[in-house]
Amino acid sequence: MGEKYNPYGNLLSVLDNAAKVAGYSDEEYAFLRYPERELRVNFPVRMDDGKVKMFEGFRIQHSTVRGPAKGGIRYHHEVDADEVRALSAGMALKCAVANIPYGGGKGGIVINPREHSAGELERITRKFTEMIAPIIGERKDIPAPDVNTNSQMMNWMVDEYSKISGRTVYGIVTGKSLEMGGSLGRTEATGRGVSICALEMLKKMGKDVSKMRVAVQGFGNVGSFSAKFMYEAGAKVVAVSRSNTAIYCADGLDIPELLKCDGKLENYKKPGVQIIDNAKLLTCDCDVLIPSALDNQITKDNAPNIKAILIAEGANGPTSKDADEILEKKGVKIIPDILANAGGVVVSYLEWVQNLQSFYWSEDEVNSKMRVLMINAFNDVYNESTKRNVSLRLAAYITAVARIVNVSKLRGK
Ligand code: NAD
Repeated sequence: MGEKYNPYGNLLSVLDNAAKVAGYSDEEYAFLRYPERELRVNFPVRMDDGKVKMFEGFRIQHSTVRGPAKGGIRYHHEVDADEVRALSAGMALKCAVANIPYGGGKGGIVINPREHSAGELERITRKFTEMIAPIIGERKDIPAPDVNTNSQMMNWMVDEYSKISGRTVYGIVTGKSLEMGGSLGRTEATGRGVSICALEMLKKMGKDVSKMRVAVQGFGNVGSFSAKFMYEAGAKVVAVSRSNTAIYCADGLDIPELLKCDGKLENYKKPGVQIIDNAKLLTCDCDVLIPSALDNQITKDNAPNIKAILIAEGANGPTSKDADEILEKKGVKIIPDILANAGGVVVSYLEWVQNLQSFYWSEDEVNSKMRVLMINAFNDVYNESTKRNVSLRLAAYITAVARIVNVSKLRGK
């Protein structure tokens, strides 16, 4: 180990490199190295036992150059300003890569949600909404769910913000329940986008999907749908993992059957299935690796042993900077998180458009619009990477920086 993990520092070093390779002067892109606006709030909430407890939260808007800020709200006891800052910048770049008319933002509350009842979580969410209300808005900054937040919390945010506004404002957040202005296709969107990018890249690499063996770390929302869509495209999904179990089957796992196990991978019985050490999933015999659990999973320690020829980053930041360099030297192609997992924010954008127009699309309409946006984003990044002979990660950052800097120039100072 010993590799110091510094998400905002990592992001800045790739950003600086992208701006340099794209030929921008410090002055042209310096604004992108800093968050535009940071709000830190402290607020009291009454607990079920009658006592009042203080909470700390953040909403950080990295950029609103290309449109309203967009990004999730995370409930975690380790949330801090630095982490939110890095995630917020990542959203600005992701929205620019996807070419959707948003800037980037992120928020969070320092809280262990497991220590709170549903009633307490509702009161905390409502109070937090009130505290950040001055800077959010359906045309200013649109939050969404992230780690430990869900559609119910987004529904409460809509309700609280609507009370403040004196009208129903469905477009204030995305990731809501369908009955509250949510979009069809949102649940599967991130995994669908990961598989669209992986399949497009395999085509570019001249690989036959039916001969590809796929390993997926993290069989949660992103991982399970990535596995499902890769399986449906004809690939053999040979390994999947959750935090407590990892399974491998050289003949391929039956993903629809596995999905019926309700997340309990150990309940999936099929001849040839072995339980493997969790860490081994990343280095198992496979062609495509989809890390979709946590950040900082592929490090300089395991990168030399990775056998995959293609990595599609379902999770945010799963590959450390050192590992990235090792893998690039080995010739492993990496579809970076800001492109690979953009399907979620793309369908969030489509949810918001439906809210603003008060007219809702069928699931097929949402999926086909999302597919067009993802394939365009993939091709833009791929073409940038071949034109400049740089990695897909650097190409994605160059694409994002160029789009944000160009709009900033057009807007003028
Ligand atoms: P999730 O909680 O639904 O799933 C995470 C999965 O990872 C769970 O199955 C968990 O058991 C597993 N896991 C945790 N630690 C693990 C470990 N050490 N080894 C193997 N598996 C492990 O979360 P999610 O929504 O699927 O998000 C996963 C990642 O994707 C996160 O980095 C998130 O920020 C990112 N992401 C999610 C979305 C989205 O729309 N959900 C969008 C963009 C990025």
